[in-house]
Amino acid sequence: MADKSYLEWPFFERRHAELAAVLDDWAAKNVRGLHGPDVDADCRHLVRLLGDAGWLGHAIAADGGPIDTRAICLIRETLARHNGLADFAFAMQGLGSGAISLFGSAAQRERYLPRVARGEAIAAFALSEPDAGSDVAAMACSARPEEDAYVLDGEKTWISNGGIADFYVVFARTGEAPGARGISAFIVDAGTPGFEIAGRIEVIAPHPLARLHFSGCRIPAAQRIGDAGQGFKVAMATLDVFRTSVAAAALGFARRAFEEALAHATQRRMFGQVLADFQLTQARLAQMATQIDAGALLTYRAAWQRDRGMKVTKEAAMAKMTATESAQQVIDAAVQMFGGLGVTSGHPAEQLYREIRALRIYEGATEVQQLIIARELLREAAVTSGETP
Ligand SMILES: Cc1cc2nc3c(=O)[nH]c(=O)nc-3n(C[C@H](O)[C@H](O)[C@H](O)COP(=O)(O)OP(=O)(O)OC[C@H]3O[C@@H](n4cnc5c(N)ncnc54)[C@H](O)[C@@H]3O)c2cc1C
Repeated sequence: MADKSYLEWPFFERRHAELAAVLDDWAAKNVRGLHGPDVDADCRHLVRLLGDAGWLGHAIAADGGPIDTRAICLIRETLARHNGLADFAFAMQGLGSGAISLFGSAAQRERYLPRVARGEAIAAFALSEPDAGSDVAAMACSARPEEDAYVLDGEKTWISNGGIADFYVVFARTGEAPGARGISAFIVDAGTPGFEIAGRIEVIAPHPLARLHFSGCRIPAAQRIGDAGQGFKVAMATLDVFRTSVAAAALGFARRAFEEALAHATQRRMFGQVLADFQLTQARLAQMATQIDAGALLTYRAAWQRDRGMKVTKEAAMAKMTATESAQQVIDAAVQMFGGLGVTSGHPAEQLYREIRALRIYEGATEVQQLIIARELLREAAVTSGETP
């Protein structure tokens, strides 16, 4: 039985603890171990399942209300503990529609968000390009205004849900200013002429992932999200919510690895005792549990702070960096404790080992989080000392 005492932390309200408990039961019954040979079909099925059960309603800002970051984080953590693909399905509905939740017009919200929440429309977030990953401002994909439309040309890559999404929030250069200030966000429906899936990408933990190609792709101007030239702000505000939730997913993977390792260590006999009787094992378990708690404290601090309407750029980066890096170490320790079993295909430790890796890269690699934290620290120091930031 997993330790749930952290739900009593002051970051949470009663409803959060209740939500986590109900979801935990639901996930154990409905998504644990759900894996078929076709990852796209599994993903579509999971989106429907999560929508029918009402969980996707938490991934959007319903009825103009705020996004509940703590609920999103608890849901991701819980789903990740049970099934990485279920977490992915939930997360992408939120990330893919996040810009509409935060900046969409009433018509855009009405058209897309209810279908996202019911699991009837699959969402995707298309920011990265072959030559603009960490360096988002190097984006080359363009959107040229033409009468009451925009014409998109260019490429996107590493797009989660690419190929199965019903719509894509696409960031493209509109040229109001150089660099980050000349980008706008658009909603592009699957099947729009001039937009095609250029190729699928296979990764170590299978998910729907693709390259997108736009060639003379004409979309109505009403599909622009927010003001022209504000796309970078839209992307960063969306990431401020979902970056914290990546930390929460890492936490879920780490908790599962810890549970598995602890159970194994108390049963596996060697040298006349069980593995957990050795002080070397105890030291490792202590370190794993402490790393998990440290990641959780940073994650839920960032989520709580955002729900209070405070700026969280630094705190979200700290949470994402710490929770993903420590989850990798916790999972590696679990693999080690299982010995040969830990690297056997399909073993929970082996699956977690593959699942966790990309979290240290996407939505800003660890090095990018370090730069964000340092930039915010220096800005705060400049403000304190009265210098212009
Ligand atoms: C599984 C997966 C799913 C993804 N899903 C999406 C999605 O849905 N939508 C989307 O838009 N993108 C998505 N991405 C893209 C992801 O956000 C990028 O991979 C990420 O931003 C890194 O960009 P890059 O791969 O081009 O690496 P690069 O930008 O080339 O960076 C390579 C490495 O350089 C290092 N680095 C970066 N900056 C610095 C620096 N300043 N100093 C020192 N070292 C540095 C980091 O270690 C980094 O990992 C996904 C990626 C993966 C792997």
